[in-house]
Amino acid sequence: MRKIGEAMDDFFRRLKNDGYKPDDITPALHSVEKIVHLEQLRRYILTCTDCPLCERAASRVPGTGRTRTPLMIVGEGPGEDEEAWGLPLVGISGSLLTLILNKANVKREDIYFTNVVKCRVSDEKGKNRTPKREETLECAKFLKTELELIRPQVVIALGKVAQQFFFPEQKTMNPYRGNVFDYHGIKVVPTWHPAYVLRQRGDELTKAKREVWHDIKIALKCLVNS
Ligand code: SF4
Repeated sequence: MRKIGEAMDDFFRRLKNDGYKPDDITPALHSVEKIVHLEQLRRYILTCTDCPLCERAASRVPGTGRTRTPLMIVGEGPGEDEEAWGLPLVGISGSLLTLILNKANVKREDIYFTNVVKCRVSDEKGKNRTPKREETLECAKFLKTELELIRPQVVIALGKVAQQFFFPEQKTMNPYRGNVFDYHGIKVVPTWHPAYVLRQRGDELTKAKREVWHDIKIALKCLVNS
């Protein structure tokens, strides 16, 4: 199989020879190259055994969604439903997040969704558990590639695992959530993971809902101002 870069050079030459303008060819080939790279990444992830987290995982869950988008949402890792269905943020947490986004007039179809780790992380009893930071480091290479290929203007980082992928020095969420940070030119807004919101009750639930709404509005405002 020939390399993607070599193929694109060949396509460029042939299209130019056929009289098309380089200014028209280049963006078209960039779009093609991007989706080919993302598909190759997806295929690699689906059979990945690069770290011990694959030993308990039934499947891998690559990112999904719109690849030409200014907004990416990054969660922690797949839960039981996501693992079964092969898609990120489609369980109860992802449904709550979609509800919140809809209320802010943002359609799920316009966003790219992914996780820091692509395998479900569970304990001996099969319950979801939070991956330790050192366990996320191998899989982080995939998220880095997704960020390079999609180049969103804004990322909403859900929960501490996602927050610490971007900013390992931020040890807790409270002082940082709802603020805008720079990650290689991308604006990143950390907020509570919807799973955290779902665990709250009473006044704490009201507070968590209000904070997530506030943080998402801040992230969306960055899009408008970009
Ligand atoms: S967690 Fe990531 S790096 Fe580890 S096996 Fe799964 S897909 Fe591969």
